Amino acid sequence: MQTAPHRILSGVRFPVARAEGTVYNSAVAFRDLPREQTGVSLLQRSLAHGRLGHAYLFTGPDPAALEPVARSLAKTLLCQQPERSAEGAPVDCCDRCSGCRRVDSGTHPDVHWVRPESKSRVITIDQVRDLSREIFLKPHEAPWKVGILVDADCLNLQAANALLKTLEEPPSRCVLMLLSAEPARLLETIVSRCMRVHFAGPGASGLDADAIEWVRRFAELAAETRRGVIDRYRMVDLILQRLAQERERAEAEVKARWTEGPEQPPGLRSGPRTEPTAEPAGEDEGPAATAGGSEAAEKAAIEAEYRRRRDRFLGAVQGWLRDVWLARLCAQEGARPFYPGWAATSHLASRLTEAEALRNLNVWEDLQNLLRRTNVQELLAIETAVLQLELGEHDAAMHLKSRG
Ligand SMILES: [Zn+2]
Repeated sequence: MQTAPHRILSGVRFPVARAEGTVYNSAVAFRDLPREQTGVSLLQRSLAHGRLGHAYLFTGPDPAALEPVARSLAKTLLCQQPERSAEGAPVDCCDRCSGCRRVDSGTHPDVHWVRPESKSRVITIDQVRDLSREIFLKPHEAPWKVGILVDADCLNLQAANALLKTLEEPPSRCVLMLLSAEPARLLETIVSRCMRVHFAGPGASGLDADAIEWVRRFAELAAETRRGVIDRYRMVDLILQRLAQERERAEAEVKARWTEGPEQPPGLRSGPRTEPTAEPAGEDEGPAATAGGSEAAEKAAIEAEYRRRRDRFLGAVQGWLRDVWLARLCAQEGARPFYPGWAATSHLASRLTEAEALRNLNVWEDLQNLLRRTNVQELLAIETAVLQLELGEHDAAMHLKSRG
């Protein structure tokens, strides 16, 4: 199975269930990252077999989840007493030696970090030039040079083109890691030169039973569709019902929190890239707004909480669409279903081609991105996406016809 992991890594957009960030924050080595992380085991297998790539693109819904992965890989490469595989290849760091500690503190001379500039949120060509210069130097003390670009989708065009040159002819003993929660914003030429690894978080285990039950109903409806548009609208209805619930819950949660005293709601976490960009109520109205502004601030907090919930919920659906795709591929090593063993999954997969199953993932990812980044009308966006899904109805209809 030499090629299987690469097939999983390359090119395709992996869908997600939203990761709950906390699990990552304390992570200091691969062993601290969630065990169900397919991406982590893929990286460790590459390390064990000495098949590490020159350039990686780490993607996932939660940008905060990607840095610990990058840091763990950097530490493993630069660790003085790494944990080793049976064949002697480093597969994890010790997290104690001076190499590890300096990677953590950002002072290791062989690790070069690039982040968007704080005001403009842009990665500039000068930053990329510095990075390239640095990684072409001989390592100071470690066997590797490591470059890490946080929020790589913030590269401006010039910077992206400069990076492309480096990616085309990377120095040996060098690993570049690009981290992005929005890889669709990267140049395709950059993406195609990186091994893409997705970190989806804990999968369905992070969802409550109620949400999993909802996805099951949705899955069954999708797998049963026979009558085209009518069935599609039943699917849309099911989504809208769920979103109405999510909105009620968001409202109840924020109101409960605010009666205890307004504080920074968790829905408004730091890091502008995870925020809904189209928040109508201004950022000026912090939670500590005056009495006159507090109503608007509460409204904004509810909206933010609702968007967070909607994103997680749509991610749960995408997890199932990913399962369908995996089922179509005849699931490979290292690929774990979010919702194992559902009949609806294999039923739908049997009616689709691999390309159709993959297209569904793209449709859903586009929907999520649209809702995250714009003020598009929710109903319209959802209708459009559901109508675009490939559900193999032609095959189903023909199958019925040929039977009777
Ligand atoms: Zn170490």
